[in-house]
Parts: sequence; C-alpha cells; structure tokens
Amino acid sequence: MGRVYNFSAGPAVLPEEVLKEAADEMMDYKGTGVSVMEMSHRSQDFQNIIDEAEKDLRDLMNIPDNYKVLFIQGGGHVQFAMVPMNLMKNKVADYIITGQWAKKACKEAQMYGTAKAIASSEDKVFSYIPDCSDLPIDDDADYVYICQNNTIYGTVFHTLPNTKGKDLVADVSSCFLSEPVDVSKYAIIWGGVQKNVGPAGMAIAIVREDLIGEALPGTPTMLKYSTYAESGSLYNTPPCYTIYICGKVFKWLKKMGGLEAMKARNEQKAKILYDFLDQSKMFSNPVRKEDRSMMNVTFVTGDKDLDAKFVAEAKAAGFINLKGHRTVGGMRASIYNAMPVEGVEKLVAFMKAFEEKEAK
Ligand SMILES: *Cc1c(COP(=O)(O)O)cnc(C)c1O
Repeated sequence: MGRVYNFSAGPAVLPEEVLKEAADEMMDYKGTGVSVMEMSHRSQDFQNIIDEAEKDLRDLMNIPDNYKVLFIQGGGHVQFAMVPMNLMKNKVADYIITGQWAKKACKEAQMYGTAKAIASSEDKVFSYIPDCSDLPIDDDADYVYICQNNTIYGTVFHTLPNTKGKDLVADVSSCFLSEPVDVSKYAIIWGGVQKNVGPAGMAIAIVREDLIGEALPGTPTMLKYSTYAESGSLYNTPPCYTIYICGKVFKWLKKMGGLEAMKARNEQKAKILYDFLDQSKMFSNPVRKEDRSMMNVTFVTGDKDLDAKFVAEAKAAGFINLKGHRTVGGMRASIYNAMPVEGVEKLVAFMKAFEEKEAK
C-alpha cells in the first residue's frame, strides 16, 4: 500500500517533501557520512540545524526579540507541569476549561497552588468556547491559561480572552503555525510538535524573557525554562532528530508562502468540509458555528453503528484515522497544514458517496 490520506489528530501527517528530503539525507547528511540521528549534538553541523530551526520559526511567527524559543523534551503533558512550576509565584492561576487538555493542565497546576476553573464549556460537552469578555480573574493570578484549539472537540478561540492585564499562557499544540499570531499578546505560547509541526516527544515554548528564572523551589533542572534559555536548548542531549524535522517543516512553510498563505489554504480546506457537513442529511458537526476549528473537524451521524461502518469503509478506501477521540466517539478529520486540499476534496467525495449509498 502506498501513501494514504492520514487524518490523525497526532502524531499526524507531515509534508511529503519533508519526508523525502529526510529519506535522502538518512545515510549521509550533507557529506558528513552519518545521519542526523547519529551526530553529536555538540557538532557544528547540529548547531547549524538548531540555529536555523529557531531562526526560521522566528521569521515565520515574527517572534519579538524579548521572547525565547525553547525546544523541550516531553511533549504536552510536561508543559502542563512546567507552566505552573515556572510561573506560579503567587500560587494562584486561572484556567479556562474548554476540553480535556485544559482540564488536565489545570489539575496538574493544582499541585503547585490554587488553580481555578474560571470558565468552562463542559456543560455542553465542550462544543463551544465560553464568553471570556468579563471573567472573575483573581487579582493575584500569576497567569490565565487557555488551550487555544481543542483537538478533541474541534473548537478554537477566535478571540483571545480578556485577561484584565494578567499574563496569558496558551497551549497551541493543534493550531501551531496554522495562521499568523501576534506573539506579543501572550506570555507563553507552547505547542507539542506532533500535531502540526513534526515528530512526537517535544514541545516548543515561546516564553517572554521576564518570566524566566523564577521557578518554584524544588523545580528539577530540566523543568526550568531558564535551563533551556541559558543553554540554547542544549543543556543536555536534545531530541536532535525531532528538531531537524521541525526545521525542515519550517523551511517548507516558508516555501509555501508563510503563515498568511497557510491560513488561506487551511480556511479553504475547512470550508470544503464544513460546507459539506452543513448541507448533509447524514453527517453533522456538533460545534457552535462561530467556534469551529479549522484544524480538527468533528462530525457524527447520530448512530454509533453507522459511524463505525463509515470509519471502516473510509479506512479501506485510503482515508485513515477518522475515528473520533475515544472519549467522545463519532468522527474527526484533522486537516493540519500538511494535509493537501485534494485530500479534503476526496474525503468529501467519499462522504457524499457513502451518504447516497446508505440512504438507499
Ligand atoms: C495532543 C495534545 C496535548 C497532549 O500532548 P502530549 O504530547 O501527548 O502530552 C496537549 N494539548 C493539546 C492541545 C493537544 O492536542
């Protein structure tokens, strides 16, 4: 079997160009005679890889000079802990609960102080983003925390919450680099890279400099942002190969026209799918319209057996990983940057044919 259309929420589809380049460089990276996996992280060759990755990310996101870019092992759940361990000086933090990832992050922070849920959309299975224009933000809050794009439920904050002057921390794992962002509106933007950027096992944290260096007592060395900031993310052996692939994805994004161009392409893909869902008599999207994600599109038929049949037939036709998250059921198509428009068009054609066949 050749390549299929992979709608996985993560680890997820990567650009074919990037995979091919990595394959070409596997036996001999640019005349070094070794692969990047076998190379010293202290070598000039690797230094160039990590420096270029950081530079390209800074260019793509227009990251201001007073923010550090940190490559941190461990993925999303490690950031759930690092955020409070590094920021919770007053031992108070406010969390907006829009899904399981925000909930887990809040729970983790409760180990280090008072982490409160100041808004939640759990009453309707996280199918919307709560009104965040006037929240009961604690005067002592060290930060306000959001999960910007909710991978499991298919919602996104189109407008950032009013934090009443408090620092905003955002988990952008599943919308990282999907569109331009104003980094200066955030204290920390972090994302696990396995959704929209690269291989699993690493997060990139973009941290405003003044927040670095006051970790809670007892914070392990490898969980302090300062350790990464002071060493250029090379205090110990980093996930070298993951950084290398992320760097290639950044170059691919630049070649594709940067984040404005990605946004246009992502909007086009999301529109194809939502337009179909909105007119379908079989499939529907459970999310409030104004809160729809353009990265993770959820849909249901309302019949569990039919859902399962659809997922199985789609898989056989070369559209894989369309099953919804195990906690919500139904279907989900994750249509990250690397999913071509054609993949979404073909999926919709398949859904249409399935609907016609089943309606008979
Ligand atoms: C996948 C995901 C996580 C969890 O990431 P891990 O690397 O598995 O710990 C956290 N937040 C969001 C938004 C995610 O999509």
